Order: sequence, then structure tokens, then C-alpha cells
Amino acid sequence: MTTILYLNGTIYTMDAAQPRAQAMAIDSTSGRILTVGDNDEVRRVGGRDTELVDLHGKTVLPGFIDAHIHLVETAYRRHYIDASGTRNQEDVANLVRQRAAQTPNGQWIQGGQWDKNLWPGQQFPTRASLDAAAPAHPVALWSKDGHLLWVNSLALQRAGITAATPDPANGAILRDSTGEPTGILQEDAATSLVYRVIDKRDPVLTRHLVHHIISDLQRSGITTIHDIESRESFSLFQQLRDEGQLGVRVEMILPRHMLPDLRAIGLHAGFGDDMLRFGGIKIFADGTLGSQTAAMLEGFEGNPNNKGILTLPEAEMKETVSAAAEMGISIAIHAIGDRAAHVALNSIEQAQRLLADSPSERTPKRLRYRLEHVQLITSEDLERMRRLGVVASVQPFHAVADRDIAERYWGKRHRHAYAYHTMQQMGIPLALGSDAPVETFDPLRILYAATLRNDTSTPRRPPWLPDQALPIAQALWDYTQGAAYAGAEEDHKGSLTVGKLGDAVVLREDIFSVPQEKMAENGVQATILGGKVVYGEV
Ligand SMILES: [Zn+2]
Repeated sequence: MTTILYLNGTIYTMDAAQPRAQAMAIDSTSGRILTVGDNDEVRRVGGRDTELVDLHGKTVLPGFIDAHIHLVETAYRRHYIDASGTRNQEDVANLVRQRAAQTPNGQWIQGGQWDKNLWPGQQFPTRASLDAAAPAHPVALWSKDGHLLWVNSLALQRAGITAATPDPANGAILRDSTGEPTGILQEDAATSLVYRVIDKRDPVLTRHLVHHIISDLQRSGITTIHDIESRESFSLFQQLRDEGQLGVRVEMILPRHMLPDLRAIGLHAGFGDDMLRFGGIKIFADGTLGSQTAAMLEGFEGNPNNKGILTLPEAEMKETVSAAAEMGISIAIHAIGDRAAHVALNSIEQAQRLLADSPSERTPKRLRYRLEHVQLITSEDLERMRRLGVVASVQPFHAVADRDIAERYWGKRHRHAYAYHTMQQMGIPLALGSDAPVETFDPLRILYAATLRNDTSTPRRPPWLPDQALPIAQALWDYTQGAAYAGAEEDHKGSLTVGKLGDAVVLREDIFSVPQEKMAENGVQATILGGKVVYGEV
């Protein structure tokens, strides 16, 4: 066993019992922290097999924990058409035309990130422009938020979608005045009609792309992710873990529909090891703001009849949440609109009551209830979150990226949206994350958004709802301890404490003293996973 001694640092431990330290010792075999303290104390643990690392006064924090990411999707975004910078649907059609010229006829063209909210008129695009660009290829392009799919006629044909196809429950096929599908599919129930006929992904390509994205996470100082994806990702992570190639710790959050399988094998949250653990299930309560499918108590601004889409009926959600809770499986519920949050909390409240009444009366220690995004919520329901101990898993970059559409579609309600500071002051546990690939996963840009309520790319705009900015110490806590708590891993991660995993990030500058507007430029110097430097050098 080698003991690695990190000396001469400015260590912010995120452990209230010992907030600052100069040095730490980590056992490289277990990856766990042996001592935290000053240089002399830490030197004392050094034995024969000791490696010394001089931190040269640099700032050290616990490694960042991204509490909400879709990793394989993020990896693939680089491979597909990226329509994120487009200004109208013709721009997108041009990208498709170029790709079609290099793609054999009949093969799928995929990609996305288009955002109609940035285009003139904000109208939904239609299949006509894609048909003109790629008449011989089926085309499927998801929207920035992933809740819309824009397809061409050949894709509709492959999926068997015609004027006669009824709207699926909890989803929609947009149609023109004659009833023909326009090429826009809303929400999973509709988009899956196309996804299920798309060719399977090539596993060699997937590995290659994921390998790259893991390096990028390390470069960003991220040491753990809560990956919200499906079985295919879980299988790949298991394989990478076996080969010692995983490179980032993963807590896996699987889709709701897998609950019966999980029940069949009796798997509960926390099963796994330090590299890969099962974390819980994800339930969608609604859609998104950008697609105007978030479930609203009152209609969207200027469109009072549209109250969005509740993607799971309340009765079914209640049943699912209670079943999962009973099995000791944590539950993460995607809730963007205030009605979605309300219904989600109804379900959580009922599940907690059932658990409390059950004869075994044992609330599993590792069970967490979390609402993902919580972009709009009533003050009564915020109070309920606090009372029920529900974690707000939030992505501060959404606040600054969505500011214009929040004002447009929520009108004056936007003033109560993305209310992270209010949540913190009320005592609701917060966990920060990225929601990549929807937004960046760079923690320093996300911290900039959390603390300055602005986007690094638009520093001249006034901050958005600055009352809701988080103090830097709080934001860092939420990105480490808060996220570890959301994953029920606070015994292992989130602070530099004896016995926990030696996961840390070394920053070039002291994030507490560098001018705040320079925070995102303060690069990551090194990332340490289980005591070993996996990126950069110190
Ligand atoms: Zn997400």
C-alpha cells in the first residue's frame, strides 16, 4: 500500500468540523483519506511507501459531484449534427443537406440542439425543409431540451406515423390544418414512435465517444456523476469499471419503467461499489419550458388553454413512488412546471405516509426523494419540500440560459422561478448539476451562473433575478456535500474527511478570493480520484 501525502495546500474540506486544512494523506489502495490536518500531522502518517505531493499553496476542494447528467447522450452530441448555433430552420436544413451528401441513402441522419425560441417568430419548424434537404434519408433532430423531435417525411414513414395515427397518451403529434403530421413530435410517448425504429448504436463508436467524454469530466474537476440514463449506459459503465477504465464514479439513476425488473431481483439503492452504484429511479412528471410542455397550474402566458403535459397520471405516479420507496429505491422526479411539482409532492407525501404506517416502520437509510429542476413551484409546495425533506436537484445554468423564455412563457410568474436562494434559506437541501447535454457540464461556468445569475458568454447582461444568487460557499457546498447527500453517499463523498474517498480538485486560483467575475476562468489544475491524479499535474 502506498500512502500519498498532499502537502502545502489551501484545502477547503467542506467538513464543518474542520473547514480548512493544509495537508491530507490518502491510501492509494482503498482510495480513502487517512488524515487531514497541517503538514506535520499529515507527515506523521507517512511510512516506507510514501509519495509526497507539494500543492504549492493551491486551492483544493472535494471533487465536484454533478447530480444530474446524461453522459452517453453528452458523448454522442459530438458525433451528431449540432444545430445549437442555428438562427432559423433553413440553417438546420443546410447542416442536414451537408450531412446527407456524405451519408449513404436510407441511413438515418440524427442530431439536434435546435432551439426555436431563438428563431424569428418562435414557430415550430416543419418536415418540409428537411424533406428538401434530405429526401432520401430519414432525419430525426431533437430540440435543445430533448423533449421535441423534428423529423422529415421519410422518418415519419419509417415510423408508420400518418394522419390516421392517434396522439399517444401523454404526448402529441403536431398536425397541419389538413390533419397531416407537421414533423414535430412532443414528449417521450410520441418521440419514441420514431426512436424505436432508428438503427441501434454501434458499441465500438459508443465506447470511443464515452472514453473522450470521461476525460473531459476529469479535466473539469468532476469526480462523481449521477447518470440519468438507461440500461445500455449501465451495461457500458459496468464493462468500463471491470476494465479499470471508468475514470469517474457513477451513481446510476434508471428509468421508471425498469422498476418491475429491479423489484424482481430485490435491488435497492446503494448497491454497488465506490466506482459504480445503483442510485435510484427517475420519473418524468412533465415536459419542459422551452417546448411549452411543462405542466402548469395556470396556462402559459398568452396561451391560457395550454397547461402543458403531465407525462404520468397522478395515480400512476403515486403508485410508482410508493412502490419504489417501499423497496428502498431513491426517487428522482423531473418537475419543471408548478403543477408537476405539486403532483410529484403529492406522491412523495403519500409514499412517506405509507412507509411510516407500514409494520416494518423502517425508513431505509439510503432513500432520498428528489425533485429534478424545480423551475417553477408555489410557495406552499416549497414549504412542503422542506417539511418532507425533498432534495432540490437544480442546474443553475438553466436559470441563465432560460431567462428569456421564462419571462416570455411564464409572464410575471417568472419572478418566483429558479428560486435557489429561497430554497436554501428555507432549509431545503440543494444539489447542483448540469443536465448536460442540454447545458454545459463545466462546474466553474455553472458556479458562475449560480453565484452571479449570469452566463459567462453574456457578461454584459444584467444578472437575472440576482436575489436568487447563491453565496459561493453555499454553491460549492451544494456541488459537493449537497450532491453527495442527494445520492445518499454523504458517508463516502462530498467532503475531505478521514474515511471518505480521496476525490479532490485542485484549482489554479483560490475560488474564494479571485474576483467573482473571473471565477469561470480559474481553471482546474488537477483532478484527484481516490488519491491518484487522473488529470493535470500538481
Ligand atoms: Zn436531464
